[in-house]
Amino acid sequence: MQSLNQLFWPAVCINCKRSICETDRSLCKSCWDELLSCAGADYCRRCGRDVSKYALLGGACPDCQGKEIHFDQISRSGVYADALSKMILAFKKGRTELDSTLGFLANAALQGSGFYDDIEFFVPVPLHWFRRLTRGYNQAQVLVKKLKYPSAKINTDLVRIRYTKSQPMMATAAARARNVAGAFAVRRGHQFTDRNVCLVDDIKTTGATLNECAKTLKEAGASKVFALVLAVAGQNVS
Ligand SMILES: [Zn+2]
Ligand SMILES: [Zn+2]
Repeated sequence: MQSLNQLFWPAVCINCKRSICETDRSLCKSCWDELLSCAGADYCRRCGRDVSKYALLGGACPDCQGKEIHFDQISRSGVYADALSKMILAFKKGRTELDSTLGFLANAALQGSGFYDDIEFFVPVPLHWFRRLTRGYNQAQVLVKKLKYPSAKINTDLVRIRYTKSQPMMATAAARARNVAGAFAVRRGHQFTDRNVCLVDDIKTTGATLNECAKTLKEAGASKVFALVLAVAGQNVS
């Protein structure tokens, strides 16, 4: 049956279209190698940026010292570069069939996060309804459905109440923070009080969006807010 399938619908790498065997998890070996090389090494658990573990002070990198970060910890699949950035961009632009491969990477990050056992709710970072309508889906929500976790539930009671300009258009961290200030709220009757929540998104750049979401969840009574992202971009943006 498998070989018949292979004959009529030969499996190709979802990234470069080279032919592969069906057991290769949708990517050819060279694309897997490129993807895994984006996983990088040590990173700061407060901001997700690359940092040697010897540079950490109280669990945070020099750049995080003294900054107001509302989420407690972050886990990432890799840095926003090469194959990983290409796949995330394609995933956002309609190639939702990449969800299994990206989901595989997100699950790996989740298992290595150190907060795996504490999560009670997974919360996809919400899009404004207008953006969701024009794109057709929220990529964070597609991703969150791929997370393998026995007891935590997906919770969509965090909503975006204000339409904001696309974050990548703006340069500074301060401008990004202003852009999303007050953009989120929780639905009436939410269950975040005294719960540990894990925000899920595709990319973290300066962290302004995740920070604002975490702030909103903490104000709603959440005990701890973690963040899980596929990639951390802007290694040098502060
Ligand atoms: Zn390939
Ligand atoms: Zn840091």
